[in-house]
Amino acid sequence: MKTLYVIGAGPAGFYAAQKVARAGHQVILFNRDIKPGGLAEYGIYPKKDKMKTGLRKQFGKILDLPNVHYLGHLPVRESGGLPVGELEQWNPDAMLFTVGAQGTKKLGLPGEDSRGVHSAKDFVYHYNLLPPFATQDFSTRKRIAIIGMGNVMVDVARWVMLDDPDRKTEEVTVIARRGPFEVKFDEKEFAYIEEYLDLQALRDELQRVKERIANVGQDVAKVPDVSFPQLAQPSRESRFPRLRFRFLSSPRQIHADAQGRIYRLTVTENLLVPRNGGTASKSTDRTSDLEFDTMIFAIGDIVDPTVGLPASQGGYVTNPEQKVSERAAYQVFDPERGQVLEGLFVAGWARKASEGLVGKARFDAEKAATYVLEYLERVPAKRTRDAQEIATLLASKGMHVVTKQDVPYLNRAEELQAKERDLPSFKFGDDDEMLAAIEREKKRQPVS
Ligand SMILES: Cc1cc2nc3c(=O)[nH]c(=O)nc-3n(C[C@H](O)[C@H](O)[C@H](O)COP(=O)(O)OP(=O)(O)OC[C@H]3O[C@@H](n4cnc5c(N)ncnc54)[C@H](O)[C@@H]3O)c2cc1C
Repeated sequence: MKTLYVIGAGPAGFYAAQKVARAGHQVILFNRDIKPGGLAEYGIYPKKDKMKTGLRKQFGKILDLPNVHYLGHLPVRESGGLPVGELEQWNPDAMLFTVGAQGTKKLGLPGEDSRGVHSAKDFVYHYNLLPPFATQDFSTRKRIAIIGMGNVMVDVARWVMLDDPDRKTEEVTVIARRGPFEVKFDEKEFAYIEEYLDLQALRDELQRVKERIANVGQDVAKVPDVSFPQLAQPSRESRFPRLRFRFLSSPRQIHADAQGRIYRLTVTENLLVPRNGGTASKSTDRTSDLEFDTMIFAIGDIVDPTVGLPASQGGYVTNPEQKVSERAAYQVFDPERGQVLEGLFVAGWARKASEGLVGKARFDAEKAATYVLEYLERVPAKRTRDAQEIATLLASKGMHVVTKQDVPYLNRAEELQAKERDLPSFKFGDDDEMLAAIEREKKRQPVS
């Protein structure tokens, strides 16, 4: 029996842990957040109860495996957390990094740090109540720009138009560098917000860009067949707030008012050009000014370079021998020394940032687990520190680590809060409150 440390207890971490544990090895999950689940807990839309509850149950069952251990509230990072070097000193037989894509893609625009400008990741962490984002100011105003046309854009638009209890939204404008044939959202997801689509504004926008998209052979008359079937339906009044699209536009400059808040966005007008069998945007020197008081970037994320793995171009560096062996794509690689970092693997959104749904992360993690298992078969066992030893050691350093025995107490404390407040569910949005609730529940009544 060998020991695998899995860094990151989101879907990828859990499914990999399950596969390796079922093969008879010990697995210790190290997680930044107190609660396990990653984006399944803190990213997926709050109203997708069935999916979230189903995933929580699956992860709970994985945690129940006797050879799976959990150490939460423990970021692995070079400073202000547990450095990778320290983990290595505890002699795991292998380590798998499933930390997701926690870095923010910055475009380097003037005014990018203005108030009212957010990354979608931070914004969804806020409304899904992940500390510390839960208690930070992510208030939105009336005219909201969302950059990007994927499913995350749909979630953000849905929140600001339908579910945010403090919403002031009058208009959401989706800004995309390419055109109406390049939308990335799924029809099923868009259905949540389609009734807000301002059809007349969409028709006008298609007229505005029709010559530019004709350049790559695209015909606006086909838009209803490909991406906006709503245009073919009987006409109707659009509902308030309005949902609009602005195609072939890339943010160029954010203008802030005297309070430092965005009030205007300058966009570059793009052309659409053919590239590699598809299309690409090409900027022109024409610009337009649009009035917004809130802006949210939903353009995908990059990995967190502070974790301590070699990183380049928004991703962790993996073995370049990927044409020769698929395994290489999961092996962490040190480009300075030009060699694979023995026993270090990566999977899920940490391997391919912002790519795919939970099913894809699971597939990727299970594939990684196959290679981890092959590796574990090959190497001699080490004398590894177990979860209990690590928890004790970290406690002696004053770190408050949350174990798998603690998680049911937190769940019970939240269920009680929901009952007391007469809510369908309740979530703490603050680490100290969660830690206090766990201690309170432990004293009150042991979970059987
Ligand atoms: C807004 C949004 C909505 C989505 N909606 C859906 C949906 O409806 N349906 C669907 O199937 N998929 C959805 N997805 C995609 C899905 O969430 C991902 O496919 C999946 O969560 C990726 O899993 P992961 O484990 O690779 O990463 P994550 O889920 O991000 O998990 C990473 C884990 O690593 C931990 N971690 C991070 N940094 C560190 C560190 N330094 N040290 C230790 N631990 C760390 C985090 O705490 C987290 O637990 C959505 C994604 C987003 C962003």
